[in-house]
Amino acid sequence: MAEVFEGMKHMPYWWEAAPRPASPVAELPAAVDVAIVGAGYSGLHAALVLAQAGRSVMLFEAGLLGSGASTLNGGMVGPSFHKLGIQGLKRRYGEDQANAILRESVGFVDFLENFLTGEGIDCGFRRGGRFRGALTPAHYDAMARDLEGLARVAGVEGEMIPPARQHEETGSKLFHGGMVYRRDGGLHPGLYHDGLVARARAAGAAIAAETPVTGLARRGDGFIVTTPRGEVRAGQVAICTNGYTGKLTPALRRRLLPLRSAMIATEPLAPEVMRKLVPKDRVLSDSRRVVAYYRPSPDGTRFLFGSRAAGGADNPHVIAPHLRRLMLQVFPELATARIGHCWSGLVAYSFDHAPHIGVLDGLHYAMGYCGSGVARASYFGHKLGHKMLGNAEGATAFDGLPFETRPLYTGNPWFMPGILLWHRLADRLGR
Ligand SMILES: Cc1cc2nc3c(=O)[nH]c(=O)nc-3n(C[C@H](O)[C@H](O)[C@H](O)COP(=O)(O)OP(=O)(O)OC[C@H]3O[C@@H](n4cnc5c(N)ncnc54)[C@H](O)[C@@H]3O)c2cc1C
Repeated sequence: MAEVFEGMKHMPYWWEAAPRPASPVAELPAAVDVAIVGAGYSGLHAALVLAQAGRSVMLFEAGLLGSGASTLNGGMVGPSFHKLGIQGLKRRYGEDQANAILRESVGFVDFLENFLTGEGIDCGFRRGGRFRGALTPAHYDAMARDLEGLARVAGVEGEMIPPARQHEETGSKLFHGGMVYRRDGGLHPGLYHDGLVARARAAGAAIAAETPVTGLARRGDGFIVTTPRGEVRAGQVAICTNGYTGKLTPALRRRLLPLRSAMIATEPLAPEVMRKLVPKDRVLSDSRRVVAYYRPSPDGTRFLFGSRAAGGADNPHVIAPHLRRLMLQVFPELATARIGHCWSGLVAYSFDHAPHIGVLDGLHYAMGYCGSGVARASYFGHKLGHKMLGNAEGATAFDGLPFETRPLYTGNPWFMPGILLWHRLADRLGR
């Protein structure tokens, strides 16, 4: 077994085609209209909108460009419907806002598609659909009810795939049928991020990588942004740090649950194996409580598998065997496949399972994408830019959702390993 991990790189597969070299670090100006903390999809989209409107924009990124989740993810795109489901959403927010949230969510991928097409960003984007496998007959029935509701309320295009037709979608024997979201898809997250960086720079936004923001202080009607390389005055500040939100913004940190998500990629597989696993070249997920997501690489040669990281740390010797075990439950035929890459990054959950956008203590923010941020963070970053400009286009059905925290919680989710363990047990029992 150990030989399947021989030579495995502790690095995202995506960085082979989109490496993260140290990029030229912009000089820090004395003052800008807008400072943005975090250069993932959220920060870059906000920067693009603001720079295109003529604002001077400085993006600060603590690590190498794209070293956050925006080049580490699975590249799977979809509306990411709220975990509470239609009824849960209605109970929490009332029927009108719940319906508006669902309808707007369907547009996330349309937004991304239009953006990529309009900007000519070539990142392997393909709307080939997503198959979601049902682990039990009860899960299948629940999926059918959900799909019926989503089609009625939000016009979601999907189809139930009964067990007898499952082989058309996947070679896996693990499922009791499943469903297809026809308008979901996938892209190469590293190439997407590269394209976005280039567009933001071309619009005039300056980006300082390897420049963590260490302090934010109110000064007059703006802020002083402190970094190890000096200070910058900014009229407005946007916090786009999602899973990496730290002590810089304690009020936001205590509203988020950072979780480690991890992936492995196999070495290239024979074309006939790939065709057998995923005949229609769709992205896949299933009805497990502890999320599992998997897909062919955009060039169709490798199989990528992701889930929450065992142990919580970025340790490939723990993560890779755990993910491989989960992958073999779905596709036992991959038992001899060598694992070429293993990596992980941080996502951020909110207490109400919804993404949040707004202003707190004078700081603009967009975050809490609950592990599904490729389309969401792009869309919310765009909205954030418009909000900061005071444009009506910044309005969203997610406005005004209470961004909750819990008493005594400061941002260290010490209780999550216990919750994950419970969910894993429930998965094993098929609950
Ligand atoms: C392994 C993995 C798999 C995933 N798979 C999927 C998927 O298939 N589909 C999907 O939709 N979503 C997926 N996601 C989630 C998605 O990647 C994120 O939701 C999205 O990238 C968030 O973008 P962002 O710009 O808000 O945050 P990020 O891209 O995480 O960027 C935040 C940045 O803020 C920076 N930062 C933090 N503090 C400071 C500071 N003080 N100063 C300067 N910079 C700072 C960080 O260095 C980081 O680069 C996955 C995530 C991971 C980790």
